[in-house]
Amino acid sequence: MLDVNGIRQDFPILRTGVIYMDSAASSLTPEPVLDKMMEFYHQYRANVDRGIHQLSQRASEEYERAHRKVAQLLNAGSEQEIIMTRNTTEGLNIVANGLKWKRENKIVTTLMDHHSNFIIWQRVRQRHGVKLEVVKPSEQGLFDLGDFERAIDDSTRVVAVPHVSNALGAIVPVREITRLAASRGALTVIDAAQSVPHMKVDVREIGCDFLAFSGHKMCGPTGSGALYIKGTVADEVEPTFIGGGTIQDVSSEDFGLATGWHRFEAGTPAIAEGIGLGRAVGYLLELGLENIRLHEVKLGKTLYEGLGKIRKVKVYGPEDMGSRVALTSFNVGELNPHDVALALDVSRKIMIRSGHHCTLPTMKEVIHANGTARASLYVYNTREEVETFLSTVEEIARSLT
Ligand code: PMP
Repeated sequence: MLDVNGIRQDFPILRTGVIYMDSAASSLTPEPVLDKMMEFYHQYRANVDRGIHQLSQRASEEYERAHRKVAQLLNAGSEQEIIMTRNTTEGLNIVANGLKWKRENKIVTTLMDHHSNFIIWQRVRQRHGVKLEVVKPSEQGLFDLGDFERAIDDSTRVVAVPHVSNALGAIVPVREITRLAASRGALTVIDAAQSVPHMKVDVREIGCDFLAFSGHKMCGPTGSGALYIKGTVADEVEPTFIGGGTIQDVSSEDFGLATGWHRFEAGTPAIAEGIGLGRAVGYLLELGLENIRLHEVKLGKTLYEGLGKIRKVKVYGPEDMGSRVALTSFNVGELNPHDVALALDVSRKIMIRSGHHCTLPTMKEVIHANGTARASLYVYNTREEVETFLSTVEEIARSLT
């Protein structure tokens, strides 16, 4: 069980009276994470891996510890498999831009992907002439595994899927998909932006080759994220950026690249952000990912079912909480979702997201809407907040009649 009232003390922004239900876009950041970043600036503000003096040594240790913490969170084989990035988008781009492509290759992705795991593959098609097949989910966001079985063939180089849809909240059976992909010799890329903050994600159990997520959606600072690259496939990825920090040796004639995460982290990294992400991981591990999931299943059920009972409200995404996270997209009659979001903010200081959620293909071809309003919950949300939200949506819906 989460001590939500205790957790809320770590988030001073909540004392301003806001009801924050937009954590899928970016979460709030707790004091222990901010303290850890300030510790860097106050006590050992220096570059990493570039100095023998004690401040640089301490900064390097802390930055490396953050890699280890992320490796622990994901159950990666080693911290060398963890590359610090600015966000999920950067991680996914590193993979798409770094792999070598041949015309006869095929990429399989889905109609439920965020633009960050979609247009990068469209660009690979534009540049290299590869084939791109897009698997479509049901209107609720559920896949038929048979569709992946048909789409993934021996020419498939990459299968790229979301772990959890940021538009519909649906959980994708990534383990089954990676198994299918591996049986045809394809690499798997998981966009875990909406799963890592909310549930136990184990890269070895999933069996993926690449997995990207954002630190800023999981209590970490903005400008933080990570990419897991399985050690055995790291050589297949040409780093997008090279330079200081990424080399093993350089002569006037040639250069050799480093191995592990140093191969991909060119130049001085975002040190405070990386250290902050490590602390955010510690914060979530202390709360317990299972406890977080339990809390969100309870609140997520109230949210989804409550919205479904309001006249004129249409909810999207799977009904079964086992296939969904605590994120619900909805529309109120014919109202523009931005107007719904604005009304919630103005009347009760409730913050939600509205629009297409960077998933235009999902909006256009899966749910056939121009956009949705979306409420997403996290560790600091309470039942009372969900109830206030529901009664406010009800008032908005009533005003339509
Ligand atoms: N994928 C998914 C599923 C997301 O929800 C998001 C953020 N909305 C992203 C990718 C992109 O994350 P970021 O902006 O941190 O790169």
